[in-house]
Amino acid sequence: MIIHAKVFLKKGKEISIQRLHPWIFSGAIQRIESNAIEGGWVEVLDFKGTTLGFGHYQNGSIAVRILSFEIQPPEDDFYVKRFYAALLLRNASGLPSDVTNAYRFIHAEGDGLPGLIIDYYDGVVVIQAHSAGMHNDREKISEALQKVFGFHLKAIYYKSHGTLPGKMRDDNTEGYLHGMAVVPHIIFENNVKFYIDWEQGQKTGFFLDQRENRKLLGGFSKNKKVLNTFCYTGGFSIYALHAEASLVHSVDASQKAIELTEKNLELNGFDKSIHQCFAQDTFDYLKDKQDEYDVIVLDPPAFAKHRDARHQAVRGYQRLNTEAMKKIKQGGILFTFSCSQVVDRQLFYDTIVSAAIHAGRQIKVLHHLSQPADHPVSIFHPEGEYLKGLVLYVE
Ligand code: SAH
Repeated sequence: MIIHAKVFLKKGKEISIQRLHPWIFSGAIQRIESNAIEGGWVEVLDFKGTTLGFGHYQNGSIAVRILSFEIQPPEDDFYVKRFYAALLLRNASGLPSDVTNAYRFIHAEGDGLPGLIIDYYDGVVVIQAHSAGMHNDREKISEALQKVFGFHLKAIYYKSHGTLPGKMRDDNTEGYLHGMAVVPHIIFENNVKFYIDWEQGQKTGFFLDQRENRKLLGGFSKNKKVLNTFCYTGGFSIYALHAEASLVHSVDASQKAIELTEKNLELNGFDKSIHQCFAQDTFDYLKDKQDEYDVIVLDPPAFAKHRDARHQAVRGYQRLNTEAMKKIKQGGILFTFSCSQVVDRQLFYDTIVSAAIHAGRQIKVLHHLSQPADHPVSIFHPEGEYLKGLVLYVE
């Protein structure tokens, strides 16, 4: 790798790096020698000039994302090595398997690659860059992926328009870097089929992080009336139907999401007699639904994307959960989630306690849920744990 500049930290600011936390905030920098270019590689040193590691530079609050804590500069096979390590972790976690051929291949800091998300959909990978550095390195990343996956890889799609800083969103942020594939593409998840459309869909096309939680829902669904709110592609709905729910209703504010859910229902052979979709706001939908459902899933989008929005987000989660707790049948099961990184597990739990108080129902916690093994969290970067969920029994 070509290293463009040396970034010297202020005295004492080396400690978090020595503890292998990969972020350097702009306020920690004492000086920069030569020219640190946006998205270029830099060497990071303490105030005495001892090398701490190497990473991507960016003009922003996180000024450097460390990619290597070694004292030697990373070599050209850097991405290849990281990708093999990621593959080993997935294989150790049983992915892919006979029943699942889609998984998160790179989970940013969790795989030692801050700023990079890559999802694998049976022979096609979708790259999402969150940093200028990963955007700049996209060709190297594409070459490394071809090396690691070999001829199994039919296409590499780059989809970073929505995740890069505004000034970088140019014509090069969306499109195929290698090969071609037809959308929608079919994948298997726990033997359930889904259409994936990375070109039109949200994020990389599918929410792989709910795989285990969808499976768990199946165990609560037999002969039950299930409501899946914020359904997007209908993931939870289809698992509930496979598990012989007596009726499933799916709600999403986006008409496009409802169409995706309907297509996935058809793909799995379910007809409209036991399933209905509603393109509606969840809060509006719930208004007149007293005692209709045995099981309710609440999987809203991140209500807070930044720390400043946290208070507002907590109020949103509280209002939503209070509503669902009030409306669910006696003895009902509530699957409730938050994917806001800035709302941590304890804060989410406390918010649910507060919702229970407002709802005036007796509630028991059955399960604490999280993100699956293909979304690993570096033990030195706890911020990587973003998905939190609870399964509640409402008396
Ligand atoms: N549960 C889904 C992922 C949810 S993503 C899965 O397993 O794949 C969040 C979804 O919430 C998006 O599809 C978005 O369109 C929808 N959404 C956002 N605000 C909403 C609202 N107020 N009411 C209903 N749906 C909403």
